[in-house]
Amino acid sequence: MPLISALRRQRQEDPCDFKAILIYRANSRTAKNPRFHGMISREETDQLLSVAEGSYLIRESQRQPGTYTLALRFGSQTRNFRLYYDGKHFVGEKRFESIHDLVTDGLITLYIETKAAEYIAKMTINPIYEHIGYTTLNREPAYKQHMAVLKETHDEKEATGQDGVSEKRLTSLVRRATLKENEQIPKYEKVHNFKVHTFRGPHWCEYCANFMWGLIAQGVKCADCGLNVHKQCSKMVPNDCKPDLKHVKKVYSCDLTTLVKAHITKRPMVVDMCIREIESRGLNSEGLYRVSGFSDLIEDVKMAFDRDGEKADISVNMYEDINIITGALKLYFRDLPIPLITYDAYPKFIESAKIVDPDEQLETLHEALRSLPPAHCETLRYLMAHLKRVTLHEKENLMSAENLGIVFGPTLMRSPELDPMAALNDIRYQRLVVELLIKNEDILF
Ligand SMILES: [Zn+2]
Ligand SMILES: [Zn+2]
Repeated sequence: MPLISALRRQRQEDPCDFKAILIYRANSRTAKNPRFHGMISREETDQLLSVAEGSYLIRESQRQPGTYTLALRFGSQTRNFRLYYDGKHFVGEKRFESIHDLVTDGLITLYIETKAAEYIAKMTINPIYEHIGYTTLNREPAYKQHMAVLKETHDEKEATGQDGVSEKRLTSLVRRATLKENEQIPKYEKVHNFKVHTFRGPHWCEYCANFMWGLIAQGVKCADCGLNVHKQCSKMVPNDCKPDLKHVKKVYSCDLTTLVKAHITKRPMVVDMCIREIESRGLNSEGLYRVSGFSDLIEDVKMAFDRDGEKADISVNMYEDINIITGALKLYFRDLPIPLITYDAYPKFIESAKIVDPDEQLETLHEALRSLPPAHCETLRYLMAHLKRVTLHEKENLMSAENLGIVFGPTLMRSPELDPMAALNDIRYQRLVVELLIKNEDILF
């Protein structure tokens, strides 16, 4: 039973508002059998706890009834912590099912922080981080090291009169692999998505290589790549998260940079595949992007991408109506947790739309584009080049840059402003931003 409710019950049973106390000692036989001591003072608390290190008790505040203090004996001192309960017990960030677990974890933490404070402070100075698991990001040094080894071997072989054919083949393969990676997949930066984590069994930090102590919430884990580090180390880890498909399961509603890094593509595959399909059979379709497709089938396309990724079949055999593909593409952008034109960059884009002087306007818009995360900017560039091609068929499809601005403005931009009136006022500027981007895509990107 949670101790606080035991306390509350005790108070209810007694008509006078006396100050209650319970005591039990960590790792002792009394642990499962708390004792109630009635009203006691700080001095008495000290006396009771001085019996042994690790003894603890809970005291109701005499000045503020209803608030509780955890008194804990550690280092021949009584330490007091304000104790909270909201379904779980806590004194700091970590929440516990029982006070006993809270105290056990607290004792471990106090012990380590007292005995190893100096060591902990220095833990992040010499990280092992770059040596583990993230070597693909440091391909260049690895490649150079490899070359050095090969050169040595080569010299030896020459000395013994052997040829270096296999060595040559190997180096060119290494070089080709390096070039391929550098040219095709941009190294988008991505922050880790750290969440407090409870590890089962002993775990070591992947940043500093030290043990992760405590009973629960010993550290944090990246929800996208699975990296495990101390909370303090998480602040030092560079923004080089490489999401793993094991952790990134969906395509729609997934952060854009996370998705492209997980699938090792330049842009979200939904964007490339839908645009390819639309350009191959839809450019002359009247009202392209304005006419909506059957929503059940659009949902079907979304499910296909979530399930099959780049293997999703969106061909004419599956979806004859091109408006289903345009609908699925628009839905992809609407579902992004951070819009294609991010909340951070949003004010700059709106500002540019309000400028009257055309040169100054494009200058500001260009600056706004540079503030976008690279994967967002690249996707926007690709989409605008496509929409420009759509306008080249305006005679047939009746879609001008202005019309496309109306469709895509609110799809690509969402106001960070919570005030609905302010957000409503922005709509005409959102449309104008997209119209400007389409008309000037060749000089802006
Ligand atoms: Zn990560
Ligand atoms: Zn660490």
